[in-house]
Amino acid sequence: MIALSLAEIAEVVGGQTYDIPDPTVQVTGPVVRDSREAGPGSLFVAFAGERVDGHDFAAAVVEAGAVAVLGTRPVGVPAIVVDDVQTALGALARYVVRRLGATLVALTGSAGKTSTKDLIAQVLQRKAPTVFTPGSLNNEIGLPLTALSATEETRFLVLEMGARGIGHISYLTGLTPPKIGLVLNVGSAHIGEFGGREQIAQAKGELVESLPSEADGGTAVLNADDPYVRAMASRTKAKVIFFGESDEADVRAENVRLTDTGQPAFRLHTPSGASDVTMRLYGEHHVSNALAAAAVAHELGMSADEIALALSEAGSLSRWRMEVTERPDGVTVVNDAYNANPESMKAALRALAAIGKGRRTWAVLGKMAELGDEALAEHDAVGRLAVRLNVSKLVAVGGREAAWLQLGAYNEGSWGEESVHVSDAQAAVDLLRSELRPGDVVLVKASRSVGLESVAQALLETG
Ligand code: ATP
Ligand code: MG
Repeated sequence: MIALSLAEIAEVVGGQTYDIPDPTVQVTGPVVRDSREAGPGSLFVAFAGERVDGHDFAAAVVEAGAVAVLGTRPVGVPAIVVDDVQTALGALARYVVRRLGATLVALTGSAGKTSTKDLIAQVLQRKAPTVFTPGSLNNEIGLPLTALSATEETRFLVLEMGARGIGHISYLTGLTPPKIGLVLNVGSAHIGEFGGREQIAQAKGELVESLPSEADGGTAVLNADDPYVRAMASRTKAKVIFFGESDEADVRAENVRLTDTGQPAFRLHTPSGASDVTMRLYGEHHVSNALAAAAVAHELGMSADEIALALSEAGSLSRWRMEVTERPDGVTVVNDAYNANPESMKAALRALAAIGKGRRTWAVLGKMAELGDEALAEHDAVGRLAVRLNVSKLVAVGGREAAWLQLGAYNEGSWGEESVHVSDAQAAVDLLRSELRPGDVVLVKASRSVGLESVAQALLETG
């Protein structure tokens, strides 16, 4: 964080100071909510959760070097006391980003936020110091904490913004107003909570509504391939640039294909030139993510060659997303257990087919959550695609949705024992342990709630 005195912080958050002998003492960062991360110069933000009350760790964090606690009651060590910690944290973030010389880039979407944020960060880092959301900390607490980790040197601040309802994104853009706002897609994630795709589009579009006008440097980066996102162009005063595979896109991909090793490759076109990209990441859904990152980087002055090189060298910074690991015995495990939706399930299956060409392939799949009325048809379609791609064996894990996956495979024809339905992750592990042979390739993927990463981990431990 930029250095701020306790007096200044107290003023910004409208708090009372307690047990502070010297209010000119500065917080130099980081601002932390996990007491184990507190160290010299830090400010500890004490949230009172249901199970744990951050205030209980006040003495420990000061012992570890923290300068003060931001909480809702005096705790016997230096403290700034406010009514609501989340509001105070937000106010502090807003104050700090206004003082930074950094350009703020925010992105949202139903799927691919973290993957794209990681790509953007790896591209922009080549140009200038970049701070970005670690992992998926994209909510009203994680976002201000990320923003507060920026320093005077930071030139780009890349922020993932998540939404579970109307008004969530506007709250976040109010804390850290972006200059560039990127919307990836409007899918079906959390469709149950929102009520429908229109509502999801309404909520995600709050990002582009918040942007400054074109005259003030605002840019909306929109996915031309997604009709709901394309339509957001009319909701912003900012300049609009489109990315996508569509010919009308300003930043687009041509000749998209999977290499022999299953990685996407394409020719990147930006308004300033064209250059070839061969990604290290797996899964063709990353083409869209890469184009989004390229559009942001183009907007920030990078050339097509610079962007293409950075995209080609970019790796995954966040775990359980198409992590390809080869065991010593030659079994390859593709761990994409972080999450799943229909688009990424299909992309992962196609990547499995490419990686496993000429080898025996296993798709260990579980439910795709939150699909509402589309659930049956979508699981059926995934089961069918597994057959069409000649996946050697489908292991459907879990309850009803797993049965739908298996049924889809069966309906596509000729499948009997090539598809099995097991009740849980442990049963899948037991099956795989006894059946896997050297050279096999195993994809593991389902929605977050299924927790299939345990299968991938178990397979790698016994390798
Ligand atoms: P969360 O809402 O959990 O933060 P996210 O939007 O950050 O998710 P990622 O973590 O990047 O998304 O990816 C989650 C899953 O979505 C990945 O496992 C991958 O299968 C899939 N995915 C990634 N990019 C795309 C995309 N462009 N289109 C569809 N699915 C994608
Ligand atoms: Mg995320």
